[in-house]
Amino acid sequence: MLTPDSPLVSRIHVSPNIDERRRGLTPALLILHYTGLPTVERSIEVLADPRCKVSCHYVVDETGRVTQMVAEAQRAWQAGVSSWFGETDINSASIGIEIQNPGHSGGYPDFPAAQMTAVRDLSLDIIQRYTMPAAGVLAHSDIAPARKIDPGEKFDWQGLAKAGVGHWVPPESPSEGGLKLGLGDKDECVSAMQQRLAAYGYGVPTSGEFDIATQYVVIAFQRHFRPARVDGCWDASCATTLERLIEALPKPELIT
Ligand SMILES: [Zn+2]
Repeated sequence: MLTPDSPLVSRIHVSPNIDERRRGLTPALLILHYTGLPTVERSIEVLADPRCKVSCHYVVDETGRVTQMVAEAQRAWQAGVSSWFGETDINSASIGIEIQNPGHSGGYPDFPAAQMTAVRDLSLDIIQRYTMPAAGVLAHSDIAPARKIDPGEKFDWQGLAKAGVGHWVPPESPSEGGLKLGLGDKDECVSAMQQRLAAYGYGVPTSGEFDIATQYVVIAFQRHFRPARVDGCWDASCATTLERLIEALPKPELIT
């Protein structure tokens, strides 16, 4: 028996793919996904199939209908191998929303307005109940950059942020010239970039080498925060956008 945790839930479909949150962790992050499957019926079937070993708390279909599959108190299996600020058990520390969209391999259609409205309202409800920080609303690709690209560069992070969901700043437009770092580079500029990405939360190597793992993180950053050019190269506009983001984070209270 599953009692809806949110008044926005219109349907319950219980998934058996759950366990207990570990180490006393409570939801501090909200992870947004796309399903990557052709229909919402198929998505819900997979998310409730014991053989698939995946689940999530909520599914939002294209019309904005919200189905709850896992109680928020339970640990859903949505994040997989992932990392944020060094925490690797994201499933224990988060709530997951799957947004119905066939994904990049299925033509990657736009997210309909009604669906985004429902994602916004459900996210606001969850964020307010757990007092989550704005910067704790993340893409699956942010926490698993080497494996995941969802919900992708078409996702309207800007619109959500205007409504109070997530942390976002206007990105600097991509420009030619200036800083340009890419795969294979190895110097103190790469080190500095890695340290700033890690300071924001990304699980990025800090080797000073622009390796493939670093490139995946750069691509994840671009999809979320500078979607005008998702090319895996670190340029001045990426660096400026990241500094704006870090600058816009709430400051810890100064003790005087
Ligand atoms: Zn996902």
